[in-house]
Amino acid sequence: MKKIAILNCLKANDVCTAAACIKAFNLRKAHFEEYDGMDAELVAVARCNGCDAGIDKGFREKLERIVSEGADVCHFGVCTVKKETGEECPVITEAGKYLEEHGVRLVRGTH
Ligand code: SF4
Repeated sequence: MKKIAILNCLKANDVCTAAACIKAFNLRKAHFEEYDGMDAELVAVARCNGCDAGIDKGFREKLERIVSEGADVCHFGVCTVKKETGEECPVITEAGKYLEEHGVRLVRGTH
């Protein structure tokens, strides 16, 4: 069983239900295509705690939870890339380093 987590930007929270991410996962579309025909489950859909918080205690707890849930892969939503520059948010990059250090593979993209 492949265990999958999704990490998104808090700024998307106003309008985001994660429905498009979850749908793409369920249908094994877009960046979830690699799991087609595979036994895979979503174990977490998390957001950061905002730009001011950075990797605060709470966000660290979320990352630890993703690891303790046994996630094999964590997908970063497109919202984690800054529209103005096209670059990944440095807080998310830092979060990704933590996840990779704990054996979680990263995929940039969801739907
Ligand atoms: S820290 Fe990054 S991912 Fe989180 S709200 Fe700010 S821009 Fe979005």
